[in-house]
Amino acid sequence: MNTIERHESEVRGYCRAFPVMFKSAEGSHLITEDGKRYLDFFAGAGVLNYGHNHPRLKAALLDYIEHNGVTHSLDMFTTAKRDFLARFNEVILKPRGLDYKVQFPGPTGTNAVEAALKLARKVTGRERILAFTNGFHGMTLGSLAVTGNSFKRSGAGVPLGNVTPVPFDGYLGDDVDTLSYIEAMLNDAGSGIDKPAAVILETVQAEGGVNVASFEWLTRLAKLVKRHDILLIVDDVQVGCGRTGPFFSFEPAGIKPDIVCLSKSLSGYGLPFALVLMKPEHDVWEPGEHNGTFRGHNPAFVTATAALDFWNDDKLTKDVDAKATRIAQRLQAIAKRCPSLGATVRGRGLIQGLAFEDKTVANAVSAEAFKRGMIIETAGIDDEVLKLLPPLTVSDEELNVGLDIIEAAVMAVAGGAKERSVA
Ligand code: PMP
Repeated sequence: MNTIERHESEVRGYCRAFPVMFKSAEGSHLITEDGKRYLDFFAGAGVLNYGHNHPRLKAALLDYIEHNGVTHSLDMFTTAKRDFLARFNEVILKPRGLDYKVQFPGPTGTNAVEAALKLARKVTGRERILAFTNGFHGMTLGSLAVTGNSFKRSGAGVPLGNVTPVPFDGYLGDDVDTLSYIEAMLNDAGSGIDKPAAVILETVQAEGGVNVASFEWLTRLAKLVKRHDILLIVDDVQVGCGRTGPFFSFEPAGIKPDIVCLSKSLSGYGLPFALVLMKPEHDVWEPGEHNGTFRGHNPAFVTATAALDFWNDDKLTKDVDAKATRIAQRLQAIAKRCPSLGATVRGRGLIQGLAFEDKTVANAVSAEAFKRGMIIETAGIDDEVLKLLPPLTVSDEELNVGLDIIEAAVMAVAGGAKERSVA
């Protein structure tokens, strides 16, 4: 038992699957204190889209610290915040025809979701939120209430209310259009659903098992809620900042959500940072009505501003598209090689999943991959999906090495499974 295991609460999680002592990190690799390198296909659960310690971001941060840049300022004016907002408007919002106001909540994803839910309720004067099956939005009470996972929900210890779960795209099989169910419920005053303030969704459910909503479904959903005067909140905490290709995951669906939550890769450097984007007409906050000590952390503004240079052109998006095609093809081939595992491939951009019929397989593959020098996680309510989340900046060579490791790990588990079935 090491010092951390002795002292840290039983609540610790990821260190149980990857029980080595990391000391440093660069690009697509985490490195242990005794020098073993692990290829990181987890990327901090979507925090490290530009890899670990990106040299350009690190230089900007070091320069800021070296010159005694303000670290903490509550939400007073700072040059770091000014520069971030100017660049974010110039590089991200303006070219996309978006005129969102920006709110800086506390620095984590769940802080952004809580602020978004409060705002939607304040704007509409309604309480109910529609949330999707297998959605994941964070661990504080408001976010848990819109999260599907019953294990996480039960940790709340109090009733989680004012939310109605509705089926995500594909939840009832390919032949059932879940939107027509939702539409019927909304149209019918006898359905039992009080008129909601908002619908919250992930366009690709990450923790929920890499469930991808089709663009057509998203477009129709946006139209449906608009018709009913219900706000659309997109939680782009995990799949925003280029994870699916474009900066915002919802861009290809041609929709403009009322409220957007971003965090994880926003600072680009692993520094905690979140924001809520809202259409200007929804900016009904009173000054200080939703505050907090660590809103908009200046070092994170600095690295986030530097990270926006990735978005001066569409090179990163094109790179993600090309890599996504290669990954999907390779995963299909792996699935074909071991039909006994009943594996299927799903995903968009650089969030890809390999789902297995036998719910024990994905964790076993993750463990085999770890033995071979890779960090890769599972997702889904029973951890039934191996989730590939490499940095967007992963090199072609690293991608090949990673896919080779995944193939070897799957084959090792398939071999074991065959032995088990023979015995
Ligand atoms: N929303 C989504 C879509 C997420 O994936 C997560 C975290 N996995 C959160 C919200 C919560 O973010 P945080 O853990 O930073 O509170």
